[in-house]
Amino acid sequence: MLGFNATAGYAVGVELGVDFIRVLTVNLAGKSISCNELSLEDTSVRNVVTEIVTCIKRESAILPKSKLGIIGVGLGVPGLVDFTSGNILYAPNLGWSDVPIRAYMEAHINLPVFVDNEANAGALAEQLFGVGTTDENAIYFSVGAGIGVGIILNHTIIRGSGGAAGEFGHMIIETRGLRCSCGSRGCLEMYASTRALVAKYAQLTGHTKTVDEIIQDLHVGDPNAREAIDSVGRYLGMGVSNLINGLNPSLVVIGNHLSEARDRLLTIVTEVVDTSALKVPGTIARIELSSLGRNSTAIGAASLALNDYFQGPFPFSHAAEPSRSGYR
Ligand SMILES: [Zn+2]
Repeated sequence: MLGFNATAGYAVGVELGVDFIRVLTVNLAGKSISCNELSLEDTSVRNVVTEIVTCIKRESAILPKSKLGIIGVGLGVPGLVDFTSGNILYAPNLGWSDVPIRAYMEAHINLPVFVDNEANAGALAEQLFGVGTTDENAIYFSVGAGIGVGIILNHTIIRGSGGAAGEFGHMIIETRGLRCSCGSRGCLEMYASTRALVAKYAQLTGHTKTVDEIIQDLHVGDPNAREAIDSVGRYLGMGVSNLINGLNPSLVVIGNHLSEARDRLLTIVTEVVDTSALKVPGTIARIELSSLGRNSTAIGAASLALNDYFQGPFPFSHAAEPSRSGYR
């Protein structure tokens, strides 16, 4: 490989969460050089676009001088995305339908913008820089306020016919279960997300704590925090088992906010998989926590811009993301 100057330019990755925006800048080698998060109260499209554009402009202003500057922006969103058009088709947790967010952003910043589902972006980051660099078939569980799944088969992210693949947060695991924001009942994310964790903890103790507080309590041995994590982990383990049976991956990565429960979560999920997944796929699949933590989606989003700039996965490993035509 020819040498190249990793600091000749930068890419910005943005994770749009249900109640936050995380903005992370990487150099051309994908190395993170800055990361900021802001909380989001007004989730109207107009406000979110304004906030993201403001963050990118601020980032651009404080970056070290470079030959290329920012070469592109990637955005990971919690919903169904048409990757080619950059439209958000449906984001139940934001209450959004048919939002041409790439067009909105490109109208404000003179840069190519790439939009993908947040779990797909997380899966891409794990494949390029995390625990999945050698796995041909891998699944990334993004467990935050909702649950999304990024599926990599033959080193390629699977998007489905209409960009809706991987919505396993809405896999029904309880008949007549809790009502979900998608309109259905008993969806996995009602039982295994960070929102489910907060609800379970409140049910056990009669008072409310944040996800970070519950995880902190877990790490210092609080039995209620541990019970809440175990409950959520058991449901997550069921979801993981179902996907292992269906897709036979060599790796399942648990990422995003809930992965900060670390060893306890991993133990519970692994126990459930050991007892419920089919023997052959269950034995093949190793289950790991994300090594990129809460930055997976933002790093993956930035990688979309890098992949396009380099017309493929150069200078990285196996990622086979399509280059979007029209920008090079
Ligand atoms: Zn649902």
